[in-house]
Amino acid sequence: MSRKKAIIIGSGIGGLSLGIRLQSLGFETTIFEKLDAPGGRAYVRKADGFVFDMGPTVLTVPHFIEELFSLEKDAAALGEPDFPAEIMDPKDRIKTGITSGPNTLKYVKIIPILPFYRIYFDDGTYFDYDGDPENTRRQIEAIEPEDLEGYDRFHDAAKAIFDRGFIELGYTYFGDIFSMLKVAPDLIRLDAVRPLFSFVKRYFKSPKLQQVFSFEPLLVGGNPLKVPAIYAMIHFVEKTWGIHFAMGGTGALVNGFVRKFEELGGTMQYNSEVAKIDVEGAWLGKKTAQGITLADGTQHTADVVISNGDYAHTYSKLIEPKYRLINQDLKVKLTGQSMSILVIYFGFKADGLEDLDLRHHNIILGPRYEELLTEIFDQKVLSPDFSQYLHIPSLTDPSMAPPGHHAAYTLVPVPNNASGIDWDIEGPKLTDKVLTFLEERGYIPDLKARLVYQSHVTPDYFEGTLNSYLGNGFGVEPVLTQSAFFRPHNRSEDISNLYLVGASSQPGGGTPSVMMCAKMTAREIAKNFNISADVVNGVGSSRAESKPEVAKV
Ligand SMILES: Cc1cc2nc3c(=O)[nH]c(=O)nc-3n(C[C@H](O)[C@H](O)[C@H](O)COP(=O)(O)OP(=O)(O)OC[C@H]3O[C@@H](n4cnc5c(N)ncnc54)[C@H](O)[C@@H]3O)c2cc1C
Repeated sequence: MSRKKAIIIGSGIGGLSLGIRLQSLGFETTIFEKLDAPGGRAYVRKADGFVFDMGPTVLTVPHFIEELFSLEKDAAALGEPDFPAEIMDPKDRIKTGITSGPNTLKYVKIIPILPFYRIYFDDGTYFDYDGDPENTRRQIEAIEPEDLEGYDRFHDAAKAIFDRGFIELGYTYFGDIFSMLKVAPDLIRLDAVRPLFSFVKRYFKSPKLQQVFSFEPLLVGGNPLKVPAIYAMIHFVEKTWGIHFAMGGTGALVNGFVRKFEELGGTMQYNSEVAKIDVEGAWLGKKTAQGITLADGTQHTADVVISNGDYAHTYSKLIEPKYRLINQDLKVKLTGQSMSILVIYFGFKADGLEDLDLRHHNIILGPRYEELLTEIFDQKVLSPDFSQYLHIPSLTDPSMAPPGHHAAYTLVPVPNNASGIDWDIEGPKLTDKVLTFLEERGYIPDLKARLVYQSHVTPDYFEGTLNSYLGNGFGVEPVLTQSAFFRPHNRSEDISNLYLVGASSQPGGGTPSVMMCAKMTAREIAKNFNISADVVNGVGSSRAESKPEVAKV
């Protein structure tokens, strides 16, 4: 019996995670990727002996990774508990390195990073955030003793949000408004709908601590002044399972996912830009995706098509308007896009820098916080000052750079391309300004003289290379009005067998979220194809019982 065919457009972490899951569900899956290698935002740039992860560097929830590497062909393991009891005890996971589960270790080694972040303030002082309650309290006391009591209250409030919003509801797919209305009272009771920064300000007086406990959504493209306080859960996700690094870089994790996908029988096809999703049906009637047409004109048929590409790109560029009743061009245009970033990849000589006062992950905050965020997200202008996230993986894994050198990237949040900024002019200028800052402020002494490699990407890279509308860095902006039911749906409202997976759909951006998204989308596909309802609903009692043959559907 022949298997049902699935096509995934794009090999970002969400696309690969879904590919593994679909092979496990019994589909015959092909991933068509525009670029010459996998990863999407997690693409790897290699130059002069340096290895640069171009995107995600902070890995959280290693259990999600272990779950993917544990999947077996045709096992349909969608009913496994999402948060099994054995992963709920955080102690060892953060500190001792017991993070790579046995199945992960066959593909990639994942180790914990401490501190999670060193957060530098503009006056040169810093906060080492490592999730340890005593270290955290000691540093809060040194900054503002009165905020200790606020921290205790913040901790309790964030934990309540984490318990309800992540552990209980994290995997909820909001396909209709009723599913949203059901949980709204709880979220209001937990104060989780208030903007995060305003939530944090209720607990901390010190502007420094307000920044420490609100900056995290920036790592997934969210404005702390606007994202709902449900994002306070990130604090707890990190505290519960730590922050991790894949030895060899995030690219090593991506390669592990590709290997797993191929071992399960999936097919990767690179240099294959999809130009069109082929649809049949009438505007007001049922519409089904028949397959895809590549930019070179070749056609491929499928029983189910999933786009891991950008939301706006998928609907506006790949599907003819006559097949879109809900996701019309106007809706797509009105959907808010996340900020963008300038990322500078650089390699530098490390001799004499043994006591570099930097850690693996460094957040270097500028002199202004609220004003800067407003300029980036709302006014969409290039600010005179900046904040940055400086990543130096070779401090943990020397193999990322040639001997005697460090590999680094620094990421500067900037407005997306709705700004009209000419990045051919401003990109090199901002790059120079940022590198000069790192040198003059003493973060990396004599940096310019030490540089042996340097390149950068701007919002134009996200728009032109990754097909992200307005050069968004992180997909659809995470704000309350674009969350849950109001976020693009994983199962298309327009076309019966078309799905989305990745940062723009539910639950949102960031590597753990897109892995969750893959599971949620796989569940929707399984429902649509009548693959073992028990398993999909999470009540299946055994794998054998739930073993699906897609061909039977
Ligand atoms: C610089 C940076 C740093 C980040 N840091 C972190 C971090 O530390 N931790 C974290 O959790 N998250 C981080 N993120 C966010 C995280 O990287 C993303 O949320 C996640 O990787 C997105 O995955 P995705 O599945 O949505 O796919 P994407 O990575 O967006 O990939 C989509 C893929 O689709 C392909 N594609 C698009 N259109 C087509 C087409 N028409 N035909 C064929 N292929 C197509 C693209 O080439 C791309 O490969 C970061 C993001 C960036 C940009």
